[in-house]
Amino acid sequence: KPIVAIVGRPNIGKSTIFNRIVGERISIVEDDPGVTRDRIYGQTEWLGKEFSLIDTGGITLEDYPLDVEIRSQAEIAIEEADVIVFMVDIRSGITSLDENIAKILYRSNKPVVLALNKADNPEQRERFYEFYSLGLGDPFPISGSHGLGLGDLLDEVVSHFEDDSLSIYDDSIIKFSLIGRPNVGKSSLVNKILGEQRVIVSDIEGTTRDAIDTPFVDEEGQEYVIIDTAGIRKSGRVYENTEKYSVLRALSAIERSDVVLCVINAEEGIREQDSRVFSHAHDEGKSIILLVNKWDAIEKDTHTMQEFEQDIRTRFRFLDYAPILFVSAETGERLQKLPELIKKIYESRMQRVQSSILNDVLMDALAMNPTPTVNNKRLKVFYMTQVAVGPPTFIVFVNDTELLHFSYQRFLENQLRKNFDFQGTPIKIIPRKRS
Ligand code: GDP
Repeated sequence: KPIVAIVGRPNIGKSTIFNRIVGERISIVEDDPGVTRDRIYGQTEWLGKEFSLIDTGGITLEDYPLDVEIRSQAEIAIEEADVIVFMVDIRSGITSLDENIAKILYRSNKPVVLALNKADNPEQRERFYEFYSLGLGDPFPISGSHGLGLGDLLDEVVSHFEDDSLSIYDDSIIKFSLIGRPNVGKSSLVNKILGEQRVIVSDIEGTTRDAIDTPFVDEEGQEYVIIDTAGIRKSGRVYENTEKYSVLRALSAIERSDVVLCVINAEEGIREQDSRVFSHAHDEGKSIILLVNKWDAIEKDTHTMQEFEQDIRTRFRFLDYAPILFVSAETGERLQKLPELIKKIYESRMQRVQSSILNDVLMDALAMNPTPTVNNKRLKVFYMTQVAVGPPTFIVFVNDTELLHFSYQRFLENQLRKNFDFQGTPIKIIPRKRS
């Protein structure tokens, strides 16, 4: 999905516009409880084209002067976004900060759409011609508070989307990413994984365009791409150390991956942020492997691994399908087999179950655990069919979708997992009323 970023000085109405465009649909990034709950990342569509919207104004750097902060926001936008919406205040004219941002954006070679906010009435709108001097093309007067001009703005934004901007890799290439808080060892793991491989390819066809990803081939000739290796390795620039930025980067890596390696630091245990980002991977239907890294650094007795595993299972109940590996980037412990496991999980993610076999399993399940009755009405389950892979998605036809409660759906899922190998992969079961 293309990414659109909104950039501009504080207090010119960026978050109002953000909320108008994204609405109440999906919002993901929230601060820890107790801190401000600003939203910076949302998903929406216009003219049937889906995109993610980032409000870079929500990414704040504490203790830095305003101009450094805004420059960082502009850099994030340039790096992450396919299209940038540069917003200024039509009533205040062009300020010197606006000019500075414009210069940075101008050099980026990314499409920039200039939005003039607070054009609430016709007189204010008349000032739009002044803004041609920014050299960013036609300005679009809008009003966040009145909801004016957004349609024209969005028409312009989506007109810059490239077609299938996501599918730069062939389907036969397995795409995976590593996510986890700073210092869990992602970069060390990547190096170790690549170090174990005989062939690291810098030019699998069609991959050169996106140098932030690292392709390699295993001994059996299977091709892989590690998504956003650049984001994993880079550090040091001011904004890169902010938690929100790393979350944001992780979200876009997840989106482009088939399999997500969720990395936990054995020395620190599980933290709040882990759960937030990992659950996003789950919600997006990605296959997941949990890696407990720095296992070498832990003093162990016979129960240590079991206890750690127990803790993870309790904290991440929704990831009960994900294998847990205790690894070390330092010693290479259990990393050699990792690509093999990724491949196996990818295959189960892409498997298709024949309808006849599926329904044998369903009939057995119904016999084993009779359907519940709610308000004197009994759930009837007629038939199940797989409608998609990656992740495996099933439609189950019932007499009344209201009667298929979570617990029975969960039971059906478990029966599928018992009969077919869906290790590492979420399964979607969609109830539908049979007509
Ligand atoms: P990233 O921010 O997640 O990419 O983390 P890095 O790969 O930069 O690692 C952070 C620190 O942890 C570095 O000092 C690494 O040397 C160290 N580290 C990474 N993996 C391991 C490991 O398996 N064992 C030990 N003992 N240290 C590790």
